[in-house]
This record gives sequence, C-alpha cells and structure tokens, in this order.
Amino acid sequence: MSDPKITVATAWLDGCSGCHMSFLDMDERLVDLAQKLDIVYSPLVDTKVLPEQVDVGILEGSISSEGDLHHAKEFRKHCKLLISLGDCAITGNVPAMRNPFKLEAVLNRAYVETVDVQPQIPTVGVPALFRQVRPIHGVVEVDVFIPGCPPHADAIFYVLNELIEGRTPDPSKVTRFGA
Ligand code: SF4
Repeated sequence: MSDPKITVATAWLDGCSGCHMSFLDMDERLVDLAQKLDIVYSPLVDTKVLPEQVDVGILEGSISSEGDLHHAKEFRKHCKLLISLGDCAITGNVPAMRNPFKLEAVLNRAYVETVDVQPQIPTVGVPALFRQVRPIHGVVEVDVFIPGCPPHADAIFYVLNELIEGRTPDPSKVTRFGA
C-alpha cells in the first residue's frame, strides 16, 4: 500500500498573490506532487474550511490586519508545520513600507487623496488595519522560511519534496531574499 498523502493548506494574508503564482509555476511538477499531497484548503481550491488537522500550512503575506492575525493563529493551531512563504511573510517587505507613516495618513492616501469618485475610508466589511505591519513569526511560531519576492518555484518544490520524503528542508540552500 502506498504512503498516505500529506495534507497542505495555503492562504495569503497581506500579499499580492505572487507567491501563490510561484506555487503554480511548479507547472508539470504539480501533477507529480498531486500523487503525494492533498491541498485541503487554499485560494487555489474550492474548499474554504480549514480542517482540524493539517500536516503543512503555507502562509504568504504579512500581518497587517485583525483578519491576517486571525488567519495566522488558525493556521498555527491546526497545522503541524508552518511555512512562511516569501519576503512579505518573513520581513514585512512591501506591506511594511507603510510602517514609517501614521495609519490615518496611509488610509487617507489610499482612499481619499488619490480617489476621484466617492472618496471615503471604508469602515464596514473590512478587517481593521494594525498601525504596524509585522512578519508572520512576529505573531506565531514559524517552522520553515522560504524567502524570495516571489520565491522561485524550484525552492517551493524543493521544500515540499523534502517534507514528502520525510526530510527536514533547508531552504537556505536554494533561496535568497528578493529573488
Ligand atoms: S513576497 Fe513578493 S510576490 Fe510574495 S506577496 Fe510579497 S510582494 Fe507579492
């Protein structure tokens, strides 16, 4: 009998989805991976309920809002191993560029000063922004870091393949920040 598949959940927090596009850039290797892992929760699949127990959680993006914090805590609670995917997840990167500015100034810039039609700061239906953007390991423990903006598909494949094979991945062998 073949080994059971590992289960994988992914989410993007305050990110541009580019890290998830890199995941898809594994191209035909995704077919091989599909024999060995199941994506049980992700923007890439229809299932939208995080299972009680997941082997590997992958988070893209930084912690910028109450919603991001909630997601990160849920992943940490339900995933045996948690991966920070990409520079935004690991350092704050692009989302953290707002950190030197007051939150009010950031919201005004985005929703009032640069908007021609019905400028207004949204207060309903969107999670409240934190004053400072934080990396994921600033709010929950992270087990594996895959840097890059976005990380190369080869690096993502390397990490997943090592985990499938029961080895501890060392992404520093195949990655660097910003590339
Ligand atoms: S690390 Fe780069 S590609 Fe990934 S979410 Fe951030 S800006 Fe986008």
